[in-house]
Amino acid sequence: MRYIGCHLSASNGNLAMVRTAQEIGANTFAFFTRNPRGSKAKAEDPADCAAAMEELKKLGFGKLVAHGAYTMNLCTADPDARKFAAGVLCDDLRRMASLPGNFYNFHPGSHVGQGTETGISQIVDALKKALAPGYPVTVLLEAMAGKGSEIGGKFEELKDIIEGVGSNQVGVCLDTCHIWDAGYDIVNDLDGVLQEFDRVVGLDKLCALHLNDSKNPLASHKDRHECIGDGNLGLATFEKIINHPVLAGLPMILETPNELPGYAREIALLRGLEK
Ligand code: FE
Ligand code: FE
Ligand code: ZN
Repeated sequence: MRYIGCHLSASNGNLAMVRTAQEIGANTFAFFTRNPRGSKAKAEDPADCAAAMEELKKLGFGKLVAHGAYTMNLCTADPDARKFAAGVLCDDLRRMASLPGNFYNFHPGSHVGQGTETGISQIVDALKKALAPGYPVTVLLEAMAGKGSEIGGKFEELKDIIEGVGSNQVGVCLDTCHIWDAGYDIVNDLDGVLQEFDRVVGLDKLCALHLNDSKNPLASHKDRHECIGDGNLGLATFEKIINHPVLAGLPMILETPNELPGYAREIALLRGLEK
């Protein structure tokens, strides 16, 4: 049994997402902690969080994978904007404390000029401060396509951030579209890519997957998601991923271009590939 789900709208609260997930055959899900293209967050609702937690436990769901806003760039060049982003991270992690034990995934950031090394140290600083209060959440760095000055397109960069923070509350979420676009050939050598991840970062840090096909070829550095089986990864790659023993317990989240009925079909498609 695999934990498979998709991105859901958080607008009706956490318990509503659990219900929706159930309806579409999911047993995990992802959601944005705030407006993904802005920074506004909804008012907190402790009763809704508690009810959702109880239901998740009862239904045996896998860990949830919350997603930080795309606009939260912890290594932006402007110091005020960087401070603001660091504050958003702190607030998100504090909010995650009402859904204890789940994951908070975010895009490490784009250094837009200061260079990878400076960018990494700025991300490390923000994470160290935000994690200091010891919230019950594991923060996941999303592996990126390496578009522009994006940090996280190389396993080495993820390792440098994890080592820099030095906390066991930091892990990695591998997005299949992103790592393919970054140049990791999971179509022809999934085992080799996982071995490389293990060598550089360590498989014990691998906490979640984003399952997306890609509109673009290997090492294109583009990041355009495609529906499962319709892109350059193809169904055979997802069959290998779904059945890979190393990936078995991880939450697998679809972020494909779909509405709910499309997600329901893709979840069923993936479950049909389980051996
Ligand atoms: Fe993402
Ligand atoms: Fe992703
Ligand atoms: Zn993406």
